[in-house]
Amino acid sequence: MPPKDISTTMGHEGDLSGFRKLLNSFLFDMHGPRGKITNAILLIIIMLAVMVTMLGTIDTVRAQWSQQISIFEHAVLIVFAFEYICRIYAARNRWHYIRSFYGIIDLVTVLPLFIAGDSFVLVRLLRLARVIRVAISFPVVRALFISLKGSVHLLMGVLGTIGLISVLVGNAVYILEPQTFSDAFEGTWWSLVTMSTVGYGDFVPKTPIGKTLAASLIMSGICMFAMVTAVISVKVGRMVNHMNKCMSCKRGLSPDYAFCPHCAAAQKQPPETIETISGS
Ligand SMILES: [Zn+2]
Repeated sequence: MPPKDISTTMGHEGDLSGFRKLLNSFLFDMHGPRGKITNAILLIIIMLAVMVTMLGTIDTVRAQWSQQISIFEHAVLIVFAFEYICRIYAARNRWHYIRSFYGIIDLVTVLPLFIAGDSFVLVRLLRLARVIRVAISFPVVRALFISLKGSVHLLMGVLGTIGLISVLVGNAVYILEPQTFSDAFEGTWWSLVTMSTVGYGDFVPKTPIGKTLAASLIMSGICMFAMVTAVISVKVGRMVNHMNKCMSCKRGLSPDYAFCPHCAAAQKQPPETIETISGS
């Protein structure tokens, strides 16, 4: 699910009153000065938390600092929990926030606070939500996700074709060369690794027919993955070209244009940037 821009759905003070309005501008208005400050502070805390968690996976560091790391972890979780409660309180449409991509990520970030006992792996996996939060804190990353929204079908088609070819050739190579591949899944794994031109070399076909299959896989792989690249680059290019809007007709245009291609109006430099690159 590609994230929507949070400020268009939950922000913009609107008809909120007093303290809630102020809190809303700090937490949701990511284009205003207050929201930018909050976003920057939270981003620093999250990045610190990610770094500390990673350092904690080094045996020598954990042996010496385990208590401090644990205290820091709990402090960070309490900050996140406080932030989550504040967001629910300040959101203009609370239910909308809770159900949104952001709301779910925020909730998942807080969850380890309520998990006790031997669920170590679960807690570690839940901490990964922080990395996602770092990513979506950057408008450019959000814009990249949103720009791919319209091409999900096409990408699924190309990736699905790659998967089908892998299964087909994987089964074929297992039938034709059973001495190398102990089952069809190994054959499929080998086909995928070969098609992507990664080639780990954990399985290598030895018969002429196996090598012929490998050669055709490599050739078709280059073409198939080129299509994935093409779909993505067209979308990203389109996003860049509509990042700004015309001063007079408000249609999207590239930041390079001195004149609008739609209404010929001259653009002051730099043209007014669209509030949310996400469009809509
Ligand atoms: Zn124009």
